[in-house]
Parts: sequence; C-alpha cells; structure tokens
Amino acid sequence: MVAIIVHGGAGTIRKEERISQVIDGVKEAVLAGWHELRGGSALDAVEEAVKVLEDNPLFNAGTGSVLTLGGKVEMDAAIMRGKTLEAGAVAGIWGVKNPISVARKVMEKTDHVLLIGEGAVKFARLLGFSGYDPRTEERLNQWEELRRRLLEKGETRHWRKLNELIKEYPEVLRSTVGAVAFDGEEVVAGTSTGGVFLKMFGRVGDTPIIGGGTYANEVAGASCTGLGEVAIKLALAKSATDFVRLGMDAQAASEAAINLATKYFGKDTMGIIMVDSKGNVGFAKNTRHMSYAFMRDGMEKPEAGV
Ligand code: ASP
Repeated sequence: MVAIIVHGGAGTIRKEERISQVIDGVKEAVLAGWHELRGGSALDAVEEAVKVLEDNPLFNAGTGSVLTLGGKVEMDAAIMRGKTLEAGAVAGIWGVKNPISVARKVMEKTDHVLLIGEGAVKFARLLGFSGYDPRTEERLNQWEELRRRLLEKGETRHWRKLNELIKEYPEVLRSTVGAVAFDGEEVVAGTSTGGVFLKMFGRVGDTPIIGGGTYANEVAGASCTGLGEVAIKLALAKSATDFVRLGMDAQAASEAAINLATKYFGKDTMGIIMVDSKGNVGFAKNTRHMSYAFMRDGMEKPEAGV
C-alpha cells in the first residue's frame, strides 16, 4: 500500500474564487508526487510535491512566500526520512527557488540537521542553487496593505501577540505547504513556508523544527501548518506520530493532535496531514480552511478539499 497526501496551508481563504484555484494547486502537486511514488521513493515524491507547491505563487512557500515586517523573504523548510531518522532543514533562507531541495541537501551532504540564514544561503550556492527572488507582485501589494492597516492603528507586530493578530487579520496566516508519503518501505515528511506575514526579523516557525512542524519515523509521518509557535510548544508533528505508535491510525492521530492544539491554544491555530506505515492517510484542522489532496493505491484520481 502506497500513499501520499499534501496540504496547502491552514487558515481562512477569504475569496471564494481562490478556493478552486487552491484545490487545483494541491491536486497538481499530489499527482506530481504520486508519479514519483509509483516509479521511485517517498523521498522523491515528497520533494517533488513540495517543489510543485513552492513553484505555484498561490502558496506561501518558495515563489509567493510572504514578507517579514521589514519586507524581506525568510523561508523555512524541512524534510525527514522515517526509516533512518535522517533529517535536513533550512531556516530564514532567501534567494533560492526551492528551499525543500536545499533542506534535502542538508540531510544528504552534511551531518547537520538545520542551517540558518546566511549560512543556509551560502551552503545553497556552494551546492549550485542559483540566485532567485521569490517575491511576487501580489505579495508585495498585500504586504503594503497589511502594513498600512497595522500602522494606521498604531500597531506593530513587535508587541502584538500573533494569535490576537490572526483573529483580526486572518490573512497573516496563509498557505504553507507540506507533503507526507509512504512508498511501502518508508514514510517521509516535508514542509516548506515563507512563515507568517509581517513576522519579526529572525523569527523561525515550526516548519524547520524537527518534531515541531515536520516529523517522520518508522510508524508515521506528519506535516503541520498554522501558528508555528503552537506546533513547536506541543512538539506536534512528533506527538502525532506518538499517537500512531499507541495504536491510532493516521486519521485518528491527526484528529488527536489537533484536539491537543485546540485544548491548549484554542481554535484557528493548527492543521496537520499524516500518513502511517500501513498506508493510511489522515488530515485535520481547527481553522476554517486547510487545502489538502491525497492519493492511495486503488484511487484513479486525487481526493481534495479545503
Ligand atoms: N506554520 C507556519 C509558520 O508558523 C505558517 C503556516 O503554516 O501558515 O511559520
């Protein structure tokens, strides 16, 4: 039994017409991953699916990443292999097209897990990743608009709590991407994001934190989305795999993980996707939306939704 699931971020999609575009985006990514999975490995499938989402400017990862308070792009990504517990991640990286591929190189070419900022950029260049500006016109306009609205009210993100800000401005949380796949032998999980809109310089979310937003072991893998600080404090991706170890399938474990987030930090905070090593997929959220798409053996086309 092989399976792959992807997400396009938890949050609120305000514009109705965007929903079908986002669903098309996650379907395209899951099919690209599925293609790799049929012919290769969960590792290639996860990287490929995340790359397709990073290259789609609708999503907040790679091209189309959101901007920091200072108008910069600082992207986070991680990938982890469940069989060997090998993991690679980058945080606060800029100037590259596909952070997930740099994360994979950290895993494969170094004996480190996480490279940050300038060091991560330098590593990417050494490995041959060429310079690239992931900012899009749409994100620059959204940044100007959000910043203006905040400044008009005399607020800056420096002292406003993120979870309060999100209630008033749900658009600060948007469309991080992730994928989890099982190839019959191994579960692999990957996540990539530009983070949270108007985040503070240097802020790192859950995405590149192994066990926080991304985790895989021999029983399951998980990729989280939502308020990164919540997933970090609950070690949510790892906790979700622990639920599988205790006997739940991927769906029950996803729901248990989100219940945990809701219990401690309230609604509108988290979403998660999972695959277990029996090939079951799971997904859950406590936000209004979280786009997802999955494929398993026996399915002719992806099942997708928000
Ligand atoms: N989890 C990401 C972060 O906190 C954001 C998201 O999922 O939208 O950086």
